[in-house]
Amino acid sequence: MNKQLGSEGKWTVRAKCAMSFDLIKGQKIRIITPHGHQAADFFAYNLDSYEEWLSPMHTWIITKSLVPRPNDIFLTRFRNPILKMIEDGAEGIHDMLLPACDQFRYEGFGYKDPHGSCSENLTNVMRRRGQEITIIPQPVNFFTNTSINPDGTLIAPGNIVKPGSYVVLEALINTLCVISSCPFDIRPEGWEINGSGKVTDLEVEVF
Ligand SMILES: [Zn+2]
Repeated sequence: MNKQLGSEGKWTVRAKCAMSFDLIKGQKIRIITPHGHQAADFFAYNLDSYEEWLSPMHTWIITKSLVPRPNDIFLTRFRNPILKMIEDGAEGIHDMLLPACDQFRYEGFGYKDPHGSCSENLTNVMRRRGQEITIIPQPVNFFTNTSINPDGTLIAPGNIVKPGSYVVLEALINTLCVISSCPFDIRPEGWEINGSGKVTDLEVEVF
């Protein structure tokens, strides 16, 4: 489902599904994990040019942080400001390293049949807007617990994000936001994306 430009209100992004939200410059979006422990894959595009999307890599080279913090400005791949993080109600538990899950990832775990994914969710949301995309941008993974050990190894030791945790972002230009309730419902050894491999709804408020 797509929310029209400037619409304000509250919506539920169903477990394993995605929605898009068109923000006017200056509007804010609150993303909530009401049950906790649920990764929210977040993508954002310049509403006037879908070729320009939020890029975590271009963001962290300026913020010098691998997790977004209040007052951090997210940049696009053309290094233009697109969103500002206003509030973090999730104790800094976010990730900007993991790519969006996709069919190939699940096949790697032995799935033969189609498995929902954040990549497919994004592709479908954009298709409903008349946009056929061939590139899945690196998402910001809100409510996703990863960290890097001193020896450089990357770990995802378990999703400890509390129920009701949230983030608030402000659009610095007219922005298309896409939010996916990550369908990662498996728990490979030492790697947990959603708490106990359970996938739950997200809530979104635009104001
Ligand atoms: Zn995912």
